[in-house]
Amino acid sequence: MKTQIEMKTQDFIALEEEYGAHNYHPLNVVLTRGEGIWVWDVEGVKYLDFLSSYSAVNQGHCHPKIVATLIEQAQKLTLVSRAFRHDQLGPLYKELCELTNSHMVLPMNSGAEAVESCIKAVRKWGYKVKGVPEGKAEIIVCENNFHGRTIAIVGFSTEAQYRDGYAPFTGGFKIIPFGDAAAFEESITPNTVAILLEPIQGEGGIIIPPEGYLRQVRQICNDKGIVMITDEIQTGLGRTGKLLAEEYDGIEADLTLIGKALSGGLYPISAVLSNKEVLGVFQPGDHGSTYGGNPLACAVARTALKVLIEEKMIENSAQMGAYFLEQLKRINSPYVKEVRGKGLMIGVELKADAGGARRFCNKLKDKNLLCKETHENVIRFAPPLIITQAETDWALERIEDVLTSW
Ligand SMILES: *Cc1c(COP(=O)(O)O)cnc(C)c1O
Repeated sequence: MKTQIEMKTQDFIALEEEYGAHNYHPLNVVLTRGEGIWVWDVEGVKYLDFLSSYSAVNQGHCHPKIVATLIEQAQKLTLVSRAFRHDQLGPLYKELCELTNSHMVLPMNSGAEAVESCIKAVRKWGYKVKGVPEGKAEIIVCENNFHGRTIAIVGFSTEAQYRDGYAPFTGGFKIIPFGDAAAFEESITPNTVAILLEPIQGEGGIIIPPEGYLRQVRQICNDKGIVMITDEIQTGLGRTGKLLAEEYDGIEADLTLIGKALSGGLYPISAVLSNKEVLGVFQPGDHGSTYGGNPLACAVARTALKVLIEEKMIENSAQMGAYFLEQLKRINSPYVKEVRGKGLMIGVELKADAGGARRFCNKLKDKNLLCKETHENVIRFAPPLIITQAETDWALERIEDVLTSW
C-alpha cells in the first residue's frame, strides 16, 4: 500500500470505486485543498470551482472568518443535545429571524431533514388548526421538483431514477405542473394544507417560472388558507442575487427552508423559518434531532451569515450574475439552446443533438474550470458569490472556447 503522499489521482479513484457505494458519478478530479473560488487537486493542479458544492459554498472555500469560528467553537463546546440549552442557539434564532423577517426557527442538519420537518409541521397545523380530518392532509408539490432524497421526499419526485426500487412511498402528495398558478388553484381541496415549491428549480435544470408566479401562488394561498412553503435551500442566501429568491416577487412564504450555504460549506446545518405560527404547533417531544441546532453548527452559521452580509456577497452575486449572463448570451455557439439564470444561478441548456452536457463539463475540467451537468442537457454555473469580474472573464474565455470550438 502506498502512503497518502505517494498516492495519485488514479489511486484515490480506485479506492472509492472498490470500497464506496456507487451512488454518485463524480468528475475524475481528486481535490485536496480549497481557498475562496479556487480548489487544488492531489497533483497540485488548480481549478476554479464553478459549482460551489451545489451552492453550499457561496461564501467561498475555507472562508477565514468561518474557519476561525469553527476552530474556536470546536475547542469550547460542540454538542449538548437539545436536552440542555446552550449559548449559541438563541442568538442564531434571533439573528436569523431579524435577517429574514421570520418569527420562529427550527434548526436541523441536512436540507432533506428541513423538508421532512416542514411536512410534519404543516400536516400537524392542518389537523390542529385548519381542522382537516385526521389522516387526510394533502400537500401540493410541483413536477420536476428536487427536495432531497429521503423516502417521503423521493415518493413525490417525478424523476424516475430517484424513485426506482424504493416503493412503497408515503401518501398525501399531489403533483402539479411548475409555473402554472391556475393548475395550483384547480388542485386545491378542503384537505389541502400546503404547497411546497422551489422559487427556481435548481436540480430540475435551472427552471425559472413565469414572471409573477410566486406572487400568484401567495395570493391563492391567502385566499384559500393554505401554507406556502418555499424551498430556498439552493436559491437562498444570495445565490440568485437576493438574500431569498422570493424577494423578486415581493412576497414572503409562510415557511422557508434554508440549508446548504447556511454554514458556508463547513458544517451541515439547515433550518425551517416560519412566518406564521405553523411551527408553533410543535410541543415538547413532537420532533427532534440529536445534532440539530448544536453549538458548533450554530456558531458556524452565525459567522457564515455575517460574512455573507458584511462582505456584500449578495450584491456581488447580483452584479456578477448579470454580467456573466449577458456575456454568456453573447457567445455564438452551435450547441446552445438557451442561457438562463438569476444572480449567480445560471444554466446553459444545450440542444438535444449536442451530445449531452457531461462531455462539456469534462472539457471544461481539462481547462481548469469545474462545473457539473444537471439532467442530460443543462450545464449549471454557480461559482462562489465572491467571484470578481476578472475571474468571471477568465471563466468566460474557457466557456466560450468549449462552446464554440469543439
Ligand atoms: C440540495 C437541496 C435539497 C436537499 O438538501 P440535502 O442537504 O442534500 O439533503 C433540498 N432542496 C433543494 C432545493 C436542494 O437544492
